[in-house]
Amino acid sequence: MNLRAIAGISVVAVLGCKPSPAPEAATPIDAQPEPAPAPVAEVAVESPAPAPVVRANVPPKWAGDAAKKIFAAAKGKTRGWDRLAKMTDLYGHRLSGSQALEDSIGWTLDTMRADGQENVRKEKVMVPHWVRGKERLQMASPARRDLTMIGLGMSVGTRGTLTREVIVVDHVDAIAKLDDTAAKGKIILINQVMPPYDPATGDSHYGDTVRSRTRGASEAAKKGADAVLVRSVTAHSLDTPHTGTLIYEEGVRKIPAAAVTVEAAEFLSRTSKRGPVKVSLKMGAKLLPDAESGNAIAEIVGREKPEEVVVIGGHIDSWDVGDGSSDDGAGCMAAMEAALLIREAGLQPRRTIRVVLFTNEENGLRGGLAYFDAHGNEPHVGAIESDSGMGAPTGFSLAGDDADAFAALQVYQPLFSDLGELSVIKGWGGADISPLTKNGVLSMALRPDASHYFDLHHSPADTIEKIDPAHIQGNAAAMALMAYILAERE
Ligand SMILES: [Zn+2]
Repeated sequence: MNLRAIAGISVVAVLGCKPSPAPEAATPIDAQPEPAPAPVAEVAVESPAPAPVVRANVPPKWAGDAAKKIFAAAKGKTRGWDRLAKMTDLYGHRLSGSQALEDSIGWTLDTMRADGQENVRKEKVMVPHWVRGKERLQMASPARRDLTMIGLGMSVGTRGTLTREVIVVDHVDAIAKLDDTAAKGKIILINQVMPPYDPATGDSHYGDTVRSRTRGASEAAKKGADAVLVRSVTAHSLDTPHTGTLIYEEGVRKIPAAAVTVEAAEFLSRTSKRGPVKVSLKMGAKLLPDAESGNAIAEIVGREKPEEVVVIGGHIDSWDVGDGSSDDGAGCMAAMEAALLIREAGLQPRRTIRVVLFTNEENGLRGGLAYFDAHGNEPHVGAIESDSGMGAPTGFSLAGDDADAFAALQVYQPLFSDLGELSVIKGWGGADISPLTKNGVLSMALRPDASHYFDLHHSPADTIEKIDPAHIQGNAAAMALMAYILAERE
């Protein structure tokens, strides 16, 4: 997910883990041209067929050697998964402000020290401390029953029970078109359907659908609604509620906001077509003073240009449901594993590879912003974030539209073939590295298969056993090789 500039909104928009080239990802990112020249060892390949425009290249030998060593180190291991299981079983989910987050950060630091990484430290970051409290949603009339819900992150509470008539819209943009009195004193349900994952384009349809979650509360408040309910941002549901952060627009009344399951949204939508429906919503959510957290950092110090840095990482915080394995415990384990594989392969790159496990991506992005504040002036030659779940490895996505950087990276693509059909595509980077991206740093997202990511995302179903150990290992090996290439190339 990227920072999005939204007119009239001063807060940072954290959209929560976006792996697909969704519409918003197509927004041009003002990445500067990649400063390094193309790899010196590019060799033109003789081709019997005339191919006038395409200039094929092969990767340099050092990169092929590194690939062999890294993949050999990764082979047969399930260490990334075993570590993720250990961390999530011990500490559970990791919402900003929670002790579990700090304990998990401490555990990653101990683990990276034991791995033999260098300059292992926690860099302090103050984070928002939002707590959910008790919450409940019931249909009050025409029938009485509990509905599966989950409050949206950063929502205000209800101060008691709010019993109101429900009006249903099918898209967040439909709220603005309501008559001025239609929603006054009511609860708006946004029953916006997320289309299924499209295997042809790789589009999860997250980018458009998530606007109902991020913008719904303020849009509803502008029409005088007292609360908003949002259909969970998922295309598949087993009555699983999906949370995620909302963004209150400045100057607009803050109203409580919760997600309901696809099933509950359909139920309310159906019944409201037969006559008036009332629900009772109770949410104990509140925002406490900022809490102390930190980014967990470790390095493989470069042999020739230690001051130049390649960042690899994920975010260590999660929502307060499930155990946050796919979002984004696995991304953190993949980055830790990538650094360890490089060590085990006996490689020390020209430049420094820095693992950063960012805190507070989900409801503040304070970790990413703090990292940039502290390190943005250091020369970064690349950044790779893993925050799109941990399906089978399919490659990387390059932020921005720098054709030269894209062409240079594609030269290395064949080296990844031992891990599957991996490719480098143009698209997006990562939320935590987005301040670096905006500063011109070559930024990439690790891009695992995301066809089932949003079935789990931000829900109680995001737990460790959904992840295949081989997928963490494969993605970690891919990340290790790409990081090594960026850190080693001319
Ligand atoms: Zn995430």
